[in-house]
Parts: sequence; structure tokens; C-alpha cells
Amino acid sequence: MSDCLFCRIVAGDVPATIVRDSARTLAFRDIAPQAPTHVLVIPKEHYDDLPALTATDLDLAAQLLHDAHRVAAAEGLVETGYRLVINTGRDAGQTVPHVHVHVLGGRALGRLG
Ligand code: C5P
Repeated sequence: MSDCLFCRIVAGDVPATIVRDSARTLAFRDIAPQAPTHVLVIPKEHYDDLPALTATDLDLAAQLLHDAHRVAAAEGLVETGYRLVINTGRDAGQTVPHVHVHVLGGRALGRLG
């Protein structure tokens, strides 16, 4: 989708700091980091959100989570722990309609809610 920001990052039309580039997913640093490590992992194919992805390609959904863990490991977060967040829809505050996993870590993140 040419009007999708994250599709444009995949295409190389919008700059991003890439930390992992695999066949089906891309990981890059969030431009407004909420933690010492804040990386977004996305499928290269466009899906608006998690339900759109899981309804179509469960293998890719699993790959996305696996690659998010790989990013956390590469960032040195396995020992201390990390958080994966997938905002879905308005109440969750999803602002970019291309499914993405936030990988957050490097400090104590506090409890949810
Ligand atoms: O879950 P949500 O849709 O709110 O997350 C979108 C994320 O994309 C934000 O954390 C924002 O900082 C990030 N972003 C980015 N690079 C851009 C535009 C947004 O990392 N060019």
C-alpha cells in the first residue's frame, strides 16, 4: 500500500534505523522511544492490524512473534526481560494501521493498567 507509512519504510522510501531484515519481517527503532530499547517489528506484507493478519496467515503471525523475540535477544534483553505490545484499534491507541509489535526493554517497565 503506497500510502502506508510502514510499507514505505519496507520499500526504503522513508528512512528508518533497521535492526533486523528477514525474508518476511522488518525490525526498526521507534522514532519516539518509550524505553532504552524500543523496536518495532512488522510483516513486510501489509495487514492493517493483528486480526487481519491472523485471519489470513497464522504462519506469518508466528514468525512475527518469533522475530520479535530474536530482536529482544539481539538487544541483550533475554536475561532482564522485555515486553511485547501489539496495539489494536482506537482504544489501544493504534496510530499506524500496519500491524506492528513493539519490543520494549532496558528498564523496569511497571505494571499494566
Ligand atoms: O502502536 P502504535 O500504532 O501507536 O505505534 C506506532 C509507533 O510508530 C509509535 O510508537 C511511533 O513512535 C512509531 N513511528 C516510527 N516511525 C515513524 C512513525 C511512527 O517509529 N516514521
